[in-house]
Amino acid sequence: MIDGASAKAYPEKAMQVVFTDLDGTLLDERTYSWDAARPALERLERLGAPWVFVTSKTRAEVLPLRRRLGNRHPFVVENGGAACVPHGYFPFTAPSALERDGYEVLEWGTRYGDLVAGLKAAVKASGCQVAAFHAMSVQEVAAASGLPLEEAALAKEREYDEPFEILDERCTRRLLAAVKEQGLRWTRGGRFHHVCGNNDKAVAVRALVQLFAKVHGQLTSIGLGDGLNDVPFLQVVDVPVLIRSRALAALKKAVPRGIPTRQPGPEGWNDALLELIRER
Ligand SMILES: [Mg+2]
Repeated sequence: MIDGASAKAYPEKAMQVVFTDLDGTLLDERTYSWDAARPALERLERLGAPWVFVTSKTRAEVLPLRRRLGNRHPFVVENGGAACVPHGYFPFTAPSALERDGYEVLEWGTRYGDLVAGLKAAVKASGCQVAAFHAMSVQEVAAASGLPLEEAALAKEREYDEPFEILDERCTRRLLAAVKEQGLRWTRGGRFHHVCGNNDKAVAVRALVQLFAKVHGQLTSIGLGDGLNDVPFLQVVDVPVLIRSRALAALKKAVPRGIPTRQPGPEGWNDALLELIRER
């Protein structure tokens, strides 16, 4: 069950497209299982409704997950650094896309090499010390993130976002100011600070909505997320769903028209979509 859902307010025949965060949303926060979401996933598949991942994970992390979930749709990686459209998915090539490994890639993020160079310059200018992914071994990333070794290796294959830890907390303000001086942005995730360019999940979701609309005409976009980095894209979809989490109060404040779920993770995801996705 979800609170206060009103799918009726949206055009009856519009195509429904689902944009979803992964960790803590479609995937259980601790076990990474999506079992509880199977009924809704089956309904989406039966109806041919696209379900699009919008995640902070890297392309290398998303590819095996898509295979395991049987997802064939476009996806957004590294907090909106890029959107990847499987080649031939739309009956046209996405404008200004780069061809890469069978995908049409739309890029908004700053190239990884430039982010690392900017972070190094900020470290030097501030006199602070950091542990950043580019300089850490797979073992060190696994230990710092809690990921198994294999997944830590995939998480290190970064293209548009560099996670780092500030070794002396008293240095935080000075270092983050130095990052800004480099013309870069920083965000704070669960475990790490991140340096990135001028991208967020909303820019990528908007671009994909436009591509879907070119094919299907009018559509209703549904967004599901559980964290503060989901706020930008939850604010631009037609129907935002707030998956229950520790951040729910802050999410409600940032997205007042969001529909909160009663359950967290894939349970809440399933309940929300079974109510919102219409059988035809
Ligand atoms: Mg999440």
